[in-house]
Amino acid sequence: MKNCVICEVPLNNQNKSKEHIIHNAIGGSLEDDEIYCKTCNERYGSEQDKAFVQMFAPIVARINMHKTRKTKGTSYSGIMCDQDGNLYTAIYKNDKVVKLENSDSKYVKYEKGKFKTLYHHFKLDNDVFKLGISKIAFNYAVHCGIHACCLERIFNYSEKKLINNPVIIPFIPMTLFDIVMEMNPVERIFHAVRIFNNGQFLYAYVELFNTFQYYILLSEKYNFTECCNIDKSYGNIIEMNEPLDRDLLKSVTPRDYKDVDIIRSQYHINVDELLEGLKKYHNYDCCNQFKQVEMLFERIGKTAYEKIRKQSYIKEYKKLINQHYHSIDFLNVLSSFGDFKMKSIFCQTFQFYTIYDDDCVNIEKYKKNLPDGTNYSSSICKGLNSGQNWISYGHMKFHILVNRFG
Ligand SMILES: [Zn+2]
Repeated sequence: MKNCVICEVPLNNQNKSKEHIIHNAIGGSLEDDEIYCKTCNERYGSEQDKAFVQMFAPIVARINMHKTRKTKGTSYSGIMCDQDGNLYTAIYKNDKVVKLENSDSKYVKYEKGKFKTLYHHFKLDNDVFKLGISKIAFNYAVHCGIHACCLERIFNYSEKKLINNPVIIPFIPMTLFDIVMEMNPVERIFHAVRIFNNGQFLYAYVELFNTFQYYILLSEKYNFTECCNIDKSYGNIIEMNEPLDRDLLKSVTPRDYKDVDIIRSQYHINVDELLEGLKKYHNYDCCNQFKQVEMLFERIGKTAYEKIRKQSYIKEYKKLINQHYHSIDFLNVLSSFGDFKMKSIFCQTFQFYTIYDDDCVNIEKYKKNLPDGTNYSSSICKGLNSGQNWISYGHMKFHILVNRFG
């Protein structure tokens, strides 16, 4: 058993507490009960967590999201207008208007069809956001076995708290391959966290809702000769698993004994156990052989199907990236680059990021190193320091996310 990272009390079954690496209220599923003790978990950042989570309320309210803890919807504000163009301040909860005020702060009755939302207030450039995102990075680093004292750029070890102004670098696509990957909406919305080092620089990459993408500098003194290089990551689907799908059920119901063998091993089904169940509750022994086979096959199909439906929301980041990569029609994208020079640049970066044998994205390089060998975080910093403005990229990503809601 480990010690609490804050107060260092040895953790045991009585005092340990579950911490979600990414906040559960925004759909994070990965838990770890070996980071904080109960007292520290309650004291440490519960106010701050609340404020962080609340920032995403306009998004959370519109996603059919998987959550392990039941939370009531959080209210959030926005601006509405009527047909004459007058503006109103609106308070929303669960995607519904609960309060409306005119420009004189007077109460106005909300009527559907009369008012239209112009925008929600959505501010990310503040301390709550910075602390929230560095807490995710901190949690994941500790989860991966990195000691809290080695995370000096986000965590003040002597005072035992996250520092106030961490180095947070926005992700910006640096190659044409990135642009194509980023501009195509993903099938299912996910969060991702990745931890890697570039020599003695230790970074986390955090991506929330496929939209808010940041590098966080964790350490400038990472001892990579002793600990060797680190590159760990995970993804977390946040939308609920799909409802009943008859075609899928049919496809995992065996048609013959050969099928039984394939499905049984693929979904780790214990057929003997199923048979026991059938005998106990379903009058199996009284049926004829034909009916018995039919019952068993049906039961195997249902079990496999339940396993698919209850699939973990926690995935390998690499798998999610590859799924996305396979959903993009790259030949079509390529033909849209009329310019020969652009085509050849695209092909070069394409080759750099993909492994032809497996036909997938090389995660070792993806969002980490550029074809010229430099790493993303430092290239982006150079660009930002040279005064380049990439705000439009963030707006574009936001637009893609909002478009999913119709
Ligand atoms: Zn503690």
